[in-house]
Amino acid sequence: MRHEDLPPLVLDCGTGARNLGMKLVRQPGRKLHMLFTHFHMDHVFGFPFFAPVYTPGFEIDVTVPASDEDEAQERLKGFLNGTYHPLRLRDLPCKLDFKAIRPGREFTRSGYTIRGHALNHPGGSCGYRIEAGGKVICYVTDSAPFAQPGEGVAYDRPATPGEARMLRLLEGADIVVYDTMFELPEYLEKMTWGHSYPEYARALCAAAGVKHLVLFHHAPDATDAELDRRAEAWAASTAPKVTLAREGETVLVEG
Ligand SMILES: [Zn+2]
Ligand SMILES: [Zn+2]
Repeated sequence: MRHEDLPPLVLDCGTGARNLGMKLVRQPGRKLHMLFTHFHMDHVFGFPFFAPVYTPGFEIDVTVPASDEDEAQERLKGFLNGTYHPLRLRDLPCKLDFKAIRPGREFTRSGYTIRGHALNHPGGSCGYRIEAGGKVICYVTDSAPFAQPGEGVAYDRPATPGEARMLRLLEGADIVVYDTMFELPEYLEKMTWGHSYPEYARALCAAAGVKHLVLFHHAPDATDAELDRRAEAWAASTAPKVTLAREGETVLVEG
């Protein structure tokens, strides 16, 4: 995520971190912020392959939902301990500054105002509402719905307490990137896996007055053809507009 001259803000560190890192080291800025939602492998795989961490002069603030800075650092150390990768966290030549945050409390990074929110996921995950220059982007992954089938906003019923809290997080956002790994039938079979489906994300975003919903965290076995079909099926949606996340794509905050 970028806003004017502020340092870039990197959300999680999956396989996309490789290309992003190569791009960032070719640019002049040497400061960046990373926010982690949780430490399931698909969200940290890219960290040992993220070029800025091997580039002397880079100052990287790493924000982690944790109780203190030591615990925040421990979470990443496990992946860079000499077993899963030749280098250890302490061998990296960049300057890493670990910061612990608690979901629910507002904090700032450079010119970004950020609030975390506890999500519904095995082992926990933290969604983020990020504001800069009067624009709001929410990043909500990984999370199962906050309601059982038959109740809540997806069924035109009153919001459950968990949904009411989520609506406050999403309220009026320009862009919401939301976990929609499953289609509804698959979700009903895998309700304990901690992921949502597009109709659910859309119902929440419509209730929160969100302008643009980006469907995200596609299932690993969803083919490009299937995802293209899904994008087409949602193309007619307005309030919110619905698109699918694509690798390498730039999405501008409109207006
Ligand atoms: Zn996860
Ligand atoms: Zn995940």
